[in-house]
Amino acid sequence: MPDNKPKLLLHICCVGCGVYVSQLLKQDYEVRLFFYNPNIWPEEEYKKRLTEAEKIAGEFNLELVKSEYEHDKWLKAVSGHESDPERGERCIICYNFRLTAAAVMAKKLNCDYLTTTLTTSPHKNALAINKIGEQAAVKYGLKFLNQDFKKQDGFKKSSALSRELGLYRQNYCGCEFSRRAI
Ligand code: SF4
Repeated sequence: MPDNKPKLLLHICCVGCGVYVSQLLKQDYEVRLFFYNPNIWPEEEYKKRLTEAEKIAGEFNLELVKSEYEHDKWLKAVSGHESDPERGERCIICYNFRLTAAAVMAKKLNCDYLTTTLTTSPHKNALAINKIGEQAAVKYGLKFLNQDFKKQDGFKKSSALSRELGLYRQNYCGCEFSRRAI
């Protein structure tokens, strides 16, 4: 029997949320994970998060698509916003940078839908993320799955799953500017 589920590319920022959200979506969609987070600094931290994503995706039999580590390009995009507070304009640019790349990849992979695990975090602005994701998806002829994954205890459940899997829990969002703030 052919699988007629729509294809969905799920942009992930960490694999704990990725596994949690995939479990929610896999009944209705054919889900692939996309790790594109050039905001993460330093590169060792990026490699640590990516290696963990590869390992866990393998254990859960999830397809993981990855892209280049383009931190210099990302730095140029947020230039002038280095001192912005978290959830400010720098984060809006950062969401847009990552979700636009995710939309390009979703189009390339012939996906029908795009969404992101970014809304799982209580520190992130779900309204802004969904608006940006929607705009990026429409631009590339895709549908955006507008969700706030922190709802219905999503953040708690995803944190519990990460603990259960023994995953590394970072204590800053990702970029050097968020690291300075801790
Ligand atoms: S704090 Fe997080 S969301 Fe904001 S710019 Fe840095 S990495 Fe991106």
